[in-house]
Amino acid sequence: MLDRLDETIVALSSAPGYGAVGIVRLSGPGAVEIVGQMSVTSDGAPPRRRRGSARLSGEVLADVDLRLPAVFYLFHEPHSYTRQDMVEIHTLGSPAVLEMVRQRAIALGAAAAQPGEFTARAFLNGAMDLSTAEAVAGVIRAQSDTQLRASRRMMDGALSRRMTETRNELAELLALVEADIDFAEEPIEFITPRALHDRLGAICERLAELLRGAKSVERLHVLPHILLLGPPNAGKSSLMNRLSGTSRAICAAIAGTTRDILSAPIRLGRGEAILLDSAGVDRSADEILASARAVTLSTAERVDLVCVVVSLCEPNESETSRGLEPARRTERRSPSNEVWTKSIQSLARDLQSLALPQVIVAGNKCDLLSAAKVGERVRTLKSLTLGPVHAVSALCDVGIATLRSAFGEAVGTGESTTFGEAVVLSERQRSAMSEASQSLRRAATLAESAVETIDCADVLAFELREALDALGSVTGDVTTEDLLGQVFATFCIGK
Ligand code: GDP
Repeated sequence: MLDRLDETIVALSSAPGYGAVGIVRLSGPGAVEIVGQMSVTSDGAPPRRRRGSARLSGEVLADVDLRLPAVFYLFHEPHSYTRQDMVEIHTLGSPAVLEMVRQRAIALGAAAAQPGEFTARAFLNGAMDLSTAEAVAGVIRAQSDTQLRASRRMMDGALSRRMTETRNELAELLALVEADIDFAEEPIEFITPRALHDRLGAICERLAELLRGAKSVERLHVLPHILLLGPPNAGKSSLMNRLSGTSRAICAAIAGTTRDILSAPIRLGRGEAILLDSAGVDRSADEILASARAVTLSTAERVDLVCVVVSLCEPNESETSRGLEPARRTERRSPSNEVWTKSIQSLARDLQSLALPQVIVAGNKCDLLSAAKVGERVRTLKSLTLGPVHAVSALCDVGIATLRSAFGEAVGTGESTTFGEAVVLSERQRSAMSEASQSLRRAATLAESAVETIDCADVLAFELREALDALGSVTGDVTTEDLLGQVFATFCIGK
C-alpha cells in the first residue's frame, strides 16, 4: 500500500447500503483518464484534467450498455485530500450499481484501495501528520458527540505542536552534547551536566503531565460501562429497567432472581453507556449465587463506574409495602435504624476491599419513607464515603433524571463534559511518549552523576536520539512501514 503511490486506486467511499447518492472515488495519476474512459459529460466530452477543481454532470458507464446519471468532481493535484489527482463519481446510491462502477474502474486499470489508503496517501504526500491521520479514523468511527469532539480535537494539531516544540528543544540539547563530543579536546563545555539534567527533568515533567491529562481515544470509542451493584432486592433490576426504558431485567420480590450479568444501552447526556445489572452481593450459600457474586465482583473492577444500589429500607420489609398506596405507607413499616445501618456498613466494608472505579450510591425505594427519614439515611450513606449519594425510587421514577445526569458527568458523556485543553492520545502515541520519557529519565540520571557532560556524552546522545525518534513517531516525523501499516489498518476502505 505504501509503495504504490504511482498507481491509481479506487473504492466506494460512501457508507455501505442504499441511499439517494453513492460515491466512488479514485486517487492517483491515472484517475482522470480512467474516469474519462467510463463516462461522458453533458457537453458530450469525457472529463479531462484541468487546473484546480471542477464539477461536471453527465453519465457514468457502469457497464458497456448501462449508462447512469452522475456528477463528477475533479480535483487536480495538489488541491485534493490525497494531494494527487482525484475524481469522485456521485451516482445512484445502489450497492449493485456502485460495485459495477468500481469494477469498471478496476477493469480500466485502477487498483482496489486498501483500508485507509486515501488517508495514507494524504499523509505520505505531506497533507497531514500521523496524529491527524489517526484522528480521521476516529471521526469516522465516532458513535456519539463526545467521541466526535474528542477525535476532532485530535485533528486540530494541538498534539503535533506540542511534540514539535519538545523535539526542537531536545534537538538543541542533542546538538550541545554532540558539540561536547566534537570539541572534546577544547577547554569549552557547551552545557553543564546540571543544566542538562534540569532541562531534561523539565521536559520529562511536561511529558508526564501531558500523559496524565490525556484522554485515551480507544477508551472513548468504547462505550462506557456502568455496573449496578448491591444486595439482592435493593431494586437493581427495577433501576435498570427504569434507566434503559426496557424490561430487560426481571424484577422480583424473591432475592437472587438475577444470576448472570444483563446489559442494556442507556442514553446519558450527549452519549450512550452500557448499563450492567448484576447478581446481588450478599453472602449467599447457594453455589450458583456464590459464583454469580464472584462474576459480579470481578466485573465491578473492570467497569468505568459502579452504581451501588441499596434499599433505603431494611431488606426484609421493603417488598411487604410494594403495591400499597403511598398514603398508606407508614413509618411503622420502616425498620429500625440499627438493623438497616448494620447491613449497610457491612456492605460498605465488602466494597471497600475491592479496587472499584468511581462509585455513585443510589439509595432506592425512597417512596417508602418520609422525607425526614430519607434525609437521615442519605446522611448515613454519605458518611460511608463510598461516593456521591442520590435518593431515588425506581418504582415511582423519583430522582432518576438526576441520577442519569450524575452518571453522564462521571463517565464523560454528560451535557457539561468538555475536554478543555486535554489532548486525546491513541494507545500507540501514549506508548511512544512513555518510551521517550524513559530515555529522557535515563539521560537525566546520567547527567546528574557526571562531573562533566563529556564523561557520558556518547550514551547521553544515544538516549536523546532514542527519545527524539520515539516522539517523532507520535506525529509521523519518524516512521517505519510497520508503524504506518498498523495505523492505517484501523481505517475503513474508501477513506
Ligand atoms: P434486585 O434484586 O436488586 O434486582 O431488585 P428488583 O429490582 O428485582 O426489586 C426487588 C423488589 O423491590 C421488587 O419487588 C420491586 O418491585 C421492588 N422495588 C424496586 N424498586 C423499588 C422502589 O423504588 N420502590 C418500591 N417501593 N419498591 C421497589
